[in-house]
Amino acid sequence: MNAPLPPQVLKQHLIDPEICIRCNTCEETCPIDAITHDGRNYVVDASICNGCMACVPPCPTGSIDNWRMVVREEAYTLEEQFGWDELPVEKPLPAQGVVADAAAADAAAATDAAVLTAAAALAEPAAAYVAPGSVVPPWSAAHPYVNLYSHKTPIVATVVGNYRVTDDDTDSDIHHIVLDFGKLPFPVLEGQSIGILPPGADAQGRAHHARQYSLASPRDGERPGYNNLSLTVKRVTETHDGQPFRGVCSNYLCDVAKGDQVQVIGPFGNTFLMPNHPRANLVMICTGTGAAPMRAMTEHCRRRLEQGANGKLMLFFGARTQRELPYFGPLMKLPRDFIDINLALSREADQPRRYVQDAIRERAADVAALLADEETYLYVCGLKGMEAGVLQALKEVAETAGQAWEPLHAALRTQGRLHLETY
Ligand code: NAP
Repeated sequence: MNAPLPPQVLKQHLIDPEICIRCNTCEETCPIDAITHDGRNYVVDASICNGCMACVPPCPTGSIDNWRMVVREEAYTLEEQFGWDELPVEKPLPAQGVVADAAAADAAAATDAAVLTAAAALAEPAAAYVAPGSVVPPWSAAHPYVNLYSHKTPIVATVVGNYRVTDDDTDSDIHHIVLDFGKLPFPVLEGQSIGILPPGADAQGRAHHARQYSLASPRDGERPGYNNLSLTVKRVTETHDGQPFRGVCSNYLCDVAKGDQVQVIGPFGNTFLMPNHPRANLVMICTGTGAAPMRAMTEHCRRRLEQGANGKLMLFFGARTQRELPYFGPLMKLPRDFIDINLALSREADQPRRYVQDAIRERAADVAALLADEETYLYVCGLKGMEAGVLQALKEVAETAGQAWEPLHAALRTQGRLHLETY
């Protein structure tokens, strides 16, 4: 059993800047706003963090799960953490007596209830936070490999394809990019993501950090039997509020040419995975480039049809217009008895705005039947803003069909049947 820590010793929570892919999941998950970031690093405020661990399972890389025993007064400040390119070497703690002397000298700090020791926090984990989605994979998911390649040891892939998948006359410049790993091992599963290290440096002269992209191809490759994978990348040309902004990595990737070499890290993600058993139904809900993992899962299901998989596939896909919907052509060629496709177009001329949650409500009877089936797994990927709306629509659909939402939501979460990946 772990002995309790003396009050002056803090088990300080830190984020490894070498592994972190700056996906913001930890900051969004933290129930007490202890995590923040600047243009470079995600950091944990030692004066707020209570070690509740809510941020640890959702982190796709494990960079969040770093701890250092420090004398409380010498805890790493936010400024120090913002400046790190790597975690500092763990310093030995002073001998017990010195710590005890420090206790006597600073009894006030010792009784400061606002800042818990990690020992106390771990003994009394914060019970309040419950993630809206699953933090475990489906029971039958295949074993994912994660963090095989890091910032220090990236793998080099060769670009073997780069195609625009939205109409040329639209502002949404979305590319399908195929990377080949040659003879090097890079095992992946649908739902996982990888990090791309864009060349060059930021304004401070430091190498750009990695940007995360979901796989758009299934585990056996964009082309079956090849050691390759694909990504869906939207060229970022403005901020969320419409100001001109050139996205470093998206512009780099949208402009790569066949034969170029790209530095890759990962793979990442061990929960947003698909079930491996044949009877499982998939309900996939996505917007824009959030279609990437849905494409991967759909294609895996299509390839295994011959092996007797017979679960249902239902897709809700939102985009501004049909011409901005990535992969529209190939998607519409899939047989209707294989996948039930529901489009929600928000800016189509002469049509009312439709979001995925509107489409879910329109298909209430079929969605309710799937929700009532314990073999159903739900995946939500895309814009952060749709998460609450989609959960609300699912709640209404379930309740209208006479199914209480709270227990259903709890079962979906705990059984690895509700996966959310929104940014
Ligand atoms: P987008 O074109 O901006 O939006 C797609 C559709 O979603 C539009 O019809 C939009 O409608 C609609 N929408 C906006 N707010 C919504 C809401 N609250 N509820 C439901 N629908 C809503 O999408 P995008 O630029 O492609 O962005 C996709 C998101 O997926 C990004 O945040 C990206 O980071 C994320 N993502 C990407 C990947 C990847 O691998 N590339 C993987 C995972 C997630 P209006 O704009 O007309 O209102």
